[in-house]
Amino acid sequence: MYYSIISKCNRYPWILNKYVTRGLSYVERVRFLQRLKEEDRTCLSYVPSGKFLAYCRSKPLIRVDEANTDKAIVWLAYSEIKNYAPDILQTSVLLDVADDGTPRYSVQLGELRDPVKDKLEDETSGVFTDLRAALFMVTWREAHILSRANCVLMWNRNTAFCGKCGSKTERNAAGYSRKCTGCGMTHYPSSNPVGIVLITDKEHENAILVRQPRHPRGMYSCIAGFSDIGESLEETVRREVAEEVGLEATDVRYIASQHWPFPGSLMTGCFAVCEKEELSIDPNELQDAKWFSRQEIAEALERIKHNPFLRLRGNPSEELFVPPPGAIAYHLIKHWYLRTPAQEIYHHIY
Ligand SMILES: [Zn+2]
Repeated sequence: MYYSIISKCNRYPWILNKYVTRGLSYVERVRFLQRLKEEDRTCLSYVPSGKFLAYCRSKPLIRVDEANTDKAIVWLAYSEIKNYAPDILQTSVLLDVADDGTPRYSVQLGELRDPVKDKLEDETSGVFTDLRAALFMVTWREAHILSRANCVLMWNRNTAFCGKCGSKTERNAAGYSRKCTGCGMTHYPSSNPVGIVLITDKEHENAILVRQPRHPRGMYSCIAGFSDIGESLEETVRREVAEEVGLEATDVRYIASQHWPFPGSLMTGCFAVCEKEELSIDPNELQDAKWFSRQEIAEALERIKHNPFLRLRGNPSEELFVPPPGAIAYHLIKHWYLRTPAQEIYHHIY
């Protein structure tokens, strides 16, 4: 039925306006998005009425809020962005369909001269912000939009040639597939699965947190690693725990997931259990790993809650803290500490 409504909307645009005004259900939005991804003419026809997330030199445009309490993506209208992106019909990528039914796209503006970039920032009260920082400034839902936009834009740039025969590829209107001009193979963007796990003892009184060399001073997080070809998620988690801290994990339980743009990972968050034995740390992967008590973890959670930018602004005292709420690791650690029933954690995050 929905397809027939959209078909009518294409022929009679005033119907769409009426339809959009009342908003779309979740299923209607998903099916509309599916159609935009598959039908080039339909996708292009909605670009002028879409909203746009702008990236400049891989930095998304984020609304600045002096009080630092309400940062969010700047969504630009076609009329506001087209002068900055003259080839927008060929370069924008589809992101999603907003609650009110508006298709949303992203566009990479590339090397804007500083006066031009400053003008756009002034006009929109936005700032082109480092993506790693921006992911922790916006809501969980908007962080996924930033992540998707960055990955699809990068994927189109990096898939200009076919991986099978080396010929040029051509994108579809949505930017969600590229067809090879030589062998005809169609390429699609994909995510890399990563297992991320909070290991606890059987009594749930202690948990293992680890430090990688790149972590800021004082920050410890969960054990994580990419899935090998042919592994299940449970096998990935058990292998990573064995490799990194030398223990055998059991009772692997999936909790919730998060997309992360570095480098296009699907972070699948889990709990698992180990005997509380001494750790044997892999020095090639980790700088440190320890069992921490519930009390120590409570204090670490409190520190990052009161100072969410501890990660970015330094931590001279080197006190223990954990990743901030924009990271799946934070939610695994927090909800283990709160003893939230596993089946309810997803609802607290989303
Ligand atoms: Zn090919």
